[in-house]
Amino acid sequence: MAKIILTGDRPTGRLHVGHYVGSLKRRVELQNSGKFDKIFIMIADAQALTDNADNPEKIRQNIIEVALDYLSCGLDPAKSTMFVQSQIAELCELSFYYMNLVTVSRLQRNPTVKSEIQMRNFEASIPVGFFTYPISQAADITAFRATTVPVGEDQLPMLEQTREIVRKFNAVYGETLIEPDILLPENQACLRLPGIDGKAKMSKSLNNCIYLSDTEEEVRKKIMSMFTDPNHLRVEDPGCVDGNPVFIYLDAFSREEQFAEYLPDYQNLDELKEHYKRGGLGDVKVKKFLNAVMQEELAPIRARRKEFEKDIPEVYRMLKKGSDEAREVAAQTLRDVRAAMKINYFEDEELIRMQSEHFGG
Ligand code: ATP
Ligand code: MG
Repeated sequence: MAKIILTGDRPTGRLHVGHYVGSLKRRVELQNSGKFDKIFIMIADAQALTDNADNPEKIRQNIIEVALDYLSCGLDPAKSTMFVQSQIAELCELSFYYMNLVTVSRLQRNPTVKSEIQMRNFEASIPVGFFTYPISQAADITAFRATTVPVGEDQLPMLEQTREIVRKFNAVYGETLIEPDILLPENQACLRLPGIDGKAKMSKSLNNCIYLSDTEEEVRKKIMSMFTDPNHLRVEDPGCVDGNPVFIYLDAFSREEQFAEYLPDYQNLDELKEHYKRGGLGDVKVKKFLNAVMQEELAPIRARRKEFEKDIPEVYRMLKKGSDEAREVAAQTLRDVRAAMKINYFEDEELIRMQSEHFGG
């Protein structure tokens, strides 16, 4: 069986370091590993419209931002097909058929949708499109026959739901769709990177992000203002590293050799954590180290972005080409789905022959 990746992002803002450690960095590694037959990277504008229906301009503006973030992180159009979801009408049709295989109560149980409804104050009235987006996500994944979906932990319930839809579809209509596997980050800290405000998830919608395209100075300011352990008031106080975003970011980003370079008093992160817990280590010193570590990671991304920004029409051409390619693949899956569901009346010669016999023709 072909090994195929599908993953993507909502164009609700520029991409942030949570996306980077949760999925983007991994995608680039997988792309360059040569182990996959096909890689599809989707800008999920139609999904973004499900909770931004009144603000299409925001989505429109952010398509190019996300594409630039992709390219600057090393996604390469020669190896990965980058495309825009709304340009693939086949995805809507697939979602429409999958809706018959999912109950309202099953959607209501999806924990990510639950918390997103709360976050968006949708409790009183949820747009139907938003409520059903896990179904449309199943369409996205299955349309490209994806076997592997590299995403952050918040996507786990979506993948479970997709797998259920696949199993149900195949049971009812015959073996047609591929059941995908989720690929979560191996590093625990990257599963769900917290915001700089200490909130559980860095998220474009929560305004607590360090963006991949932030300037050096913006990154430095954000790091220096980061939430830490609120009880660590004086340098000599013992501090807590669990749940402390500065240490979670160090878990996510720092490498052992960076200690020798930027903080030679310590051999590794464990030693630094021990000192913080004992007391006597100030937040500013830790934050300065984190800043050095993150600038090292972000500087080349920022520089590449500047290059791609010089030819914006080319980036749009790349997305159009990717969307044309993606449409062909989705169209083939849709043909298979229609055939399995027996709604391909005009291509079904057997049906026409039998009906003709039935009516005595
Ligand atoms: P929105 O607030 O509009 O939902 P978002 O910041 O949650 O935006 P998405 O586009 O929904 O971003 O997510 C894109 C990908 O990035 C998904 O694979 C998701 O799991 C991953 N991701 C998003 N935020 C984080 C995070 N804080 N830590 C790890 N992975 C993340
Ligand atoms: Mg999200």
